[in-house]
This record gives sequence, C-alpha cells and structure tokens, in this order.
Amino acid sequence: MPLPERFLDELIARTDIVDLVSESVRLTKKGGSWWGCCPFHSEKTPSFHVVPDRQMYKCFGCGKGGGVINYVMELENLPFRDAVAVLAKRAGMQMPEFDGSSSGMRERREKILEMNKQTARLFHRWLNSPQGSEGLAYLERRGLSRRTRTNFGLGFALNSWDGLIQALAGLGYSKRDMLDAGLAVSNKDGRIYDRFRNRVMFPIIDVRGNVIGFGGRVMDDATPKYLNSPDTPVYNKSRNVFALNIAKNSKAGRVILTEGYMDTIALHQAGFDNAVASLGTAFTEEHGQLLARYFKEAVISYDGDSAGVAAAQRAIPLLEKAGLKVKVLRMQGAKDPDEFIKAYGRDAFVRLLDQSENQVDYRLAQIQKKYDLTDDGQRVSFLQEAAQLVSTLHSAVEREIYGGHAAQTAGVSPETMKLEVDRALKGRLRKEKRQEERQNMAPVGQLQPKARTLRYENIRSARAEEGLLRLLMLDPGLAGRMDGITGAEFSSGLLGRAFDALNRRAAAGLSTQLAALAEDFDREEMDHLAQVAAQPESVANSGQSIQDYISIVRGEGLLRSGTAQGDDLLLAAQKRYQQKKAYMEEKT
Ligand SMILES: [Zn+2]
Repeated sequence: MPLPERFLDELIARTDIVDLVSESVRLTKKGGSWWGCCPFHSEKTPSFHVVPDRQMYKCFGCGKGGGVINYVMELENLPFRDAVAVLAKRAGMQMPEFDGSSSGMRERREKILEMNKQTARLFHRWLNSPQGSEGLAYLERRGLSRRTRTNFGLGFALNSWDGLIQALAGLGYSKRDMLDAGLAVSNKDGRIYDRFRNRVMFPIIDVRGNVIGFGGRVMDDATPKYLNSPDTPVYNKSRNVFALNIAKNSKAGRVILTEGYMDTIALHQAGFDNAVASLGTAFTEEHGQLLARYFKEAVISYDGDSAGVAAAQRAIPLLEKAGLKVKVLRMQGAKDPDEFIKAYGRDAFVRLLDQSENQVDYRLAQIQKKYDLTDDGQRVSFLQEAAQLVSTLHSAVEREIYGGHAAQTAGVSPETMKLEVDRALKGRLRKEKRQEERQNMAPVGQLQPKARTLRYENIRSARAEEGLLRLLMLDPGLAGRMDGITGAEFSSGLLGRAFDALNRRAAAGLSTQLAALAEDFDREEMDHLAQVAAQPESVANSGQSIQDYISIVRGEGLLRSGTAQGDDLLLAAQKRYQQKKAYMEEKT
C-alpha cells in the first residue's frame, strides 16, 4: 500500500531543503540560493546547488539532484520508505500504518535486520556458554575485558554446520531469509549450512544502531583469518566502517583508522573511543565521505608491514579528497596498535598520536625508500617524483616547506626544488584545465539526460516539454491552462510521465514540487528531472510561454507521426479540438 499522498505532502512541506542539507553540507548563500561542496562526489570548489524556491538540489559536478526525500535516500543509501521514515521522525510526524503486503524492499530489509539482531544475541549467548569456551578463552587471551565484550556485543559461532540455521528456524525464519542475510550458504545440491562456524564473532553495527552484518575470526592460524558477511540488502562493505556507531559520539575530534576489528576494539578498551576499522576491504571513497561527516581529521594507524604501508598510501588521497586532514602514525617496536598498547601502555600511544606524521612527510619518506640517493640518476628520479607530490599541495607555503624537506633529503638547494615543483604544478594545472573544458564544452551533451536510456529523440520538442514541466512545478494553478495537453503527446517518455504525474497532483490540490516525485521516479530519472527543474523559467508571462511550448510539442508530434500533410493535419486538429472540449467539460 502506498503512503498516503497527503502525508507525503505535509512531510515535504515541513522539511526545508536548506535546513536539511545544512545538516551535512556547509552551505554559503549566493543571491537567492545556496552553494556547497557536494556530499555525493569529492570536490574542493562548490558545485552543489540548493534552491529554496523550488525546494530542490542539483549538483553540477556529478549530476545528482532531487528534493528532500531523494536527498536522504542518496545520502544514507536508503530506499524510499526508509528515507520517508527518517524525515518523518525529523519532522516529528507519525508514520502512517500500512499493511506489509506490498512494499517488498522495506519489509525485506527490516526482516534481515531483525534476524541479524537475533543472531547477534545468539552468538553472544553462545560465547558465554560451555560450547563457546574456546572462543571466550581466545578473547580473554587477547586481553578483552568482560565489559568490552559486552559493549561490542562479541559472540561465538558454534563449531557446527547448522547450529545457527536450526536456531533461526526455531525462531520462524526460512532458508531464503538466512541466505538473503548472508548467514547461510548453499551448496550445489541446494542444501544450506552455516556461513560462520567455530569463530569469534563481531557484529557490525551502523550509525543508527542496526546490526547490518558480521565479521568472524578464527582462533588459530587457519584461513581465512577473517570471514565477513557478503553484501546484502542491508550491508555494503564499501559504505560502512566498524565501530563508527560508537566513534561518531567521540569528543576527540579526530578519527583513528585501523586495519581490523581487534585493533579497533583494543583501542576502545584503552580509552580511545574514536577508533574505527574498514571492513575486509580496501578503503574506499565512500568510507572517506562517511568519516568526513563526523570528523575533521584522520590518523591512519595501519600495520607497519608492507601491506599496511600500501593500504595507507591508498587511503591517504581518498581521505584528503573527502576533506579530512590526514596524519599517519608510525609505530616502532610493535606491529599494530593492539600490540603497541599492550607493550607500552596508553600514554605512549597518546604521545604517538600527537607525534603522528603529517601525511606529506610520510609519503615523501615512502618515495625516498624507492631510490638510492647516492646515485645521481636515482636522485633525479626521486626529486621528480617528490615534486609531483609536493605540487598537489594547495598552499604555496606548504609547497615551500615540503619542497624544502625533499631538497634537504636529496642534498640539492631549495631553489632547484622549487623550479621542479613549479614545473610539475604547471603541468597539473594544464591537465586539470583541459579536463574542465572538456566537461563544459559539451552543450548538446548537457541538453541530453546523462543516462543513455533516457536520451531525447527530439531535442526541440523536449526543450518545450521541459518548459511545460517547469511551469507546472512553479505554479500548479497553471495546470488548467495547458490546453488539455497530456504526457502522451510528449516526445520524451520520461518528461511525459512526469508531466502527467504533476498534472494529476495539481488537480488533486497536492504539491507539484520536484520533491513530490521521489516515489515514482528512479535515481537517474530524478537526477535528470532535477536538471530540468534547475533551469531558469519565469511565470511572469506564463500564458504566452505555455502557448509557444504547446505549439512546438504538437507541431513536432505531427512531424514525428508523419501526418503533417493535408487532410491528416485537419484530422489531427479536429481530434485535438474534441479532446480539448472533453477536457474542458470534465473540468466544469
Ligand atoms: Zn556532486
């Protein structure tokens, strides 16, 4: 059952787009609208546009756009109903009751979340039962206190092929449910068995407190050492980090990024409530953006081995792109934070954090390692690579300081280094400018929807159709003055559908703002409708505009159907007249 339209209308009316976006993006006012750095792609200069008049947003960088509901769907990666629920809570509105028969996705997600919660309870209970003694012994050996085990809801998966399956079946869950949640695996014969067996279990909890997945660790040297939930309808490993549900409330102001569950938990136990771990995957751009929502600075605290160094090198630019200040912790005398704290204590780790290296020096040191600086040829290569790195720094002061460090390392004068950095900088700027030009110099491309499947077949008609759509969004009162034109006459299927939807809403006295279309249009469609809605349009002389637009749409329509000659034209005009008459009679 769909949500009542009146309810959605009120929700949209009560949610101001500028207020909503301001919660996650720093907006600056320019004229009648607001600009900020896009939360959906990485950028340093704002191209994210929020228009209060039209209650919409549009990014001119990545193309994403929509109204308040789309914003939450996109930002939190939620399906429509869940986004509505988030906004309803925010606006202090009660979600209407509905039966569970028809809205598949939300029910499916909720079922999996509930099953995950039950599973986490089972694992935790088993850890503290005789069957879990081995797991408990392992965690105790790793020094995790009872309090830590409870705080993180740690558990144990039985050494059995169907321990969990049996328990969940007893709670009424089906095989299908268990497979969907990634808790069970099926073999070729269609038989299912427990994914996690004989492992200590770490529930993965999102920022809203939902158990979205699990990580399981063996207690000896068996492989794989860690096994994680696969991606499911509620879990995406590239979009979630472990322990952020706790770290997001930290007062520390910076986040400590570790490589694994055990490091993160050990840090929390030692009083660092700001530690998180990425989950069995390389650090992604989305991880960076997620962390940037809660922190200004990140300290990378990966293992000191070559894999750890490589992982840090990959994470640095992604964190920087997301707008975080990045530091790298260089540990000596221990291979990871867990070991370090056990050996040297909490205070030593605090000192390490405070001394953590600026990421530029860290990366210079990594570059230096690749070259033998006593060799002239290699020294030149070092300087060139270092200059490339230094040239990416935004302030001239930084470029001078770090350029100086590199010069000193290689034993050349700071002036020589500066020349090299300037050259690298010029090359980079040229390249960036070329890219930007390529993006801006494609007017036809800009007229067209980004998604191929939505491409306009008739640009001239589509432009006019866009105009009609915009006018209707700006003023639902115009619906009755559109000469009975319907979306079926449009050349673009998408615009036609949107027009009909708005028309129907206008007739029912509902809002015709872009936000109201969130349920009926998918993401790509919405991005394009936002692009349409963001174009200038004036209602000042709307009567004339409507006439012009309609005559283009109908004229092009006739050409398209190949009937723009003789009698057919007359026939078409007559048909139109009848349609109009029928429409007017219906209205009165
Ligand atoms: Zn963007």
